[in-house]
Amino acid sequence: MKEELRSEVVVIGGGIAGLVTANRAAQLGKKVVLLEKGTDEKYLCNSRWTGGTFHVHFTDPLADEEKLLKVIREATDGFATEELAQALAVDSPRLIKWLRAEGVQMIHMGGYHSCILAPPARTGPGLEWEGRGGDVMLRRLEANLVKRGGRLVRGAKVLALDVAGGTGVGLEVLQGGESVRYEAGDVVIADGGFPADHDLIRQYISPCPEKILRRNAGAGTGDGLRMAVAVGAGLTGGLDCFYGHLLSRDAMNNNRLWPRPYLDALVTAGIVINGHGERFADEGNGGVYMANSVARLQDPLSATLVFDHAAWMGPGANSIIPANPHLINGGGTLHKAETIEALAALIGVPAATLVKQVSDYNSALRAATTASLKPSRRTDRHKPMLIDVGPFYAIPLCTGITHVMGGIAINASSQVLDKAGQPIAHLYAAGTCTGGIEGGPAIGYIGGLSKSGVTGLRAAERIAQA
Ligand SMILES: Cc1cc2nc3c(=O)[nH]c(=O)nc-3n(C[C@H](O)[C@H](O)[C@H](O)COP(=O)(O)OP(=O)(O)OC[C@H]3O[C@@H](n4cnc5c(N)ncnc54)[C@H](O)[C@@H]3O)c2cc1C
Repeated sequence: MKEELRSEVVVIGGGIAGLVTANRAAQLGKKVVLLEKGTDEKYLCNSRWTGGTFHVHFTDPLADEEKLLKVIREATDGFATEELAQALAVDSPRLIKWLRAEGVQMIHMGGYHSCILAPPARTGPGLEWEGRGGDVMLRRLEANLVKRGGRLVRGAKVLALDVAGGTGVGLEVLQGGESVRYEAGDVVIADGGFPADHDLIRQYISPCPEKILRRNAGAGTGDGLRMAVAVGAGLTGGLDCFYGHLLSRDAMNNNRLWPRPYLDALVTAGIVINGHGERFADEGNGGVYMANSVARLQDPLSATLVFDHAAWMGPGANSIIPANPHLINGGGTLHKAETIEALAALIGVPAATLVKQVSDYNSALRAATTASLKPSRRTDRHKPMLIDVGPFYAIPLCTGITHVMGGIAINASSQVLDKAGQPIAHLYAAGTCTGGIEGGPAIGYIGGLSKSGVTGLRAAERIAQA
């Protein structure tokens, strides 16, 4: 076997999880090869497209361990595996310090946006990634890897793993049109999960994946999950949940309307109805929760957001890249009417149904009895607003998937676990292909960048210790 096909550590995937793992392992003295299926110099992946805010459920990632742990437990209603929650709480601040020491630049933009990759990507509607934080970070980490003697091989798609010998891992790789075998002491899967794989999305998330917007770079197609399962790995928590947002339905065909402006601030201020004109989920759980609820509808392109003028001028105009005015500027549909009956006609739902939904909602809000609405409406996380003074508005919605919350089961050292919860020798996973931190009935979103970086650091450190 050629020497270049043998390495102490092979990492699968060159997003933040893979590049953090590779650099940390090389920094700790390991010989590392990173195999990346993308062929371009700036191969696309979620990490290159990222908005760049490191956070732990919208909390400053530099906050103390106790605070971060509490936030993770609360956001997931206790669904997060305790040892993974602790790992994230302990190591989020360490990840930021480590990345800064690697030369990754971050800026503070107020509130929990204390650590945003520079230059920031959130400059306006639509997608802008070239020369922005994620792109700059990946190029910096790749350069560091090369300086440390590691290699990033583009155009190398890993197809299968072989753990049978127990002394290391073999990898079947499609490279240059040929099947090539690599041998590794340890392998780390960091392939970004399955946010772009229709079969797995249909299996776990939505009856209709083709009606969900791919709010991701298209690189995560579930290879790592399938390979891990084939060698006995268990899957865990949150496979049916994703991080994503509700967007204008026009975003399905209009690139100026995604990944921003997303509509969370209006979703949690108003109501979301299905194709019959009825509410179907608790908007008070937040925009990510509602994005999942829409994906679970038989027709994910049937939902509509309803609110009034005060919401349009308030939260509609005050969020990050707000819908008001970016939805209009981007060419998105905004129905506007002086009465709810007229609005129902524009949406295409029965007027009597929408009038009753709005009237029940307003009455419950005034009487502070939203908990008895069906479905109930919580008010502790987001402030709902009345829909009572025209003009009234409606935005036809689509839901966009960014990354899946569940995935390959790992422990706090990022070792892949088998179905009995025991580590599979020499096999690790990091980043958004792993599960156990996000998801649950509350669809708790914790943060892709922090999770990916921390699981990467831990995989490398465990490998170096062994
Ligand atoms: C528009 C947008 C905005 C976002 N904003 C934020 C934010 O502000 N804050 C935040 O925390 N998160 C954000 N995220 C999410 C965050 O960027 C991701 O969670 C994170 O980058 C995932 O990193 P990863 O390394 O797990 O996966 P990825 O970055 O997707 O990398 C996986 C890599 O594996 C490669 N690969 C896949 N299969 C194979 C194979 N078989 N062989 C070899 N290589 C393979 C892929 O080509 C890819 O390069 C955002 C994402 C998007 C798209």
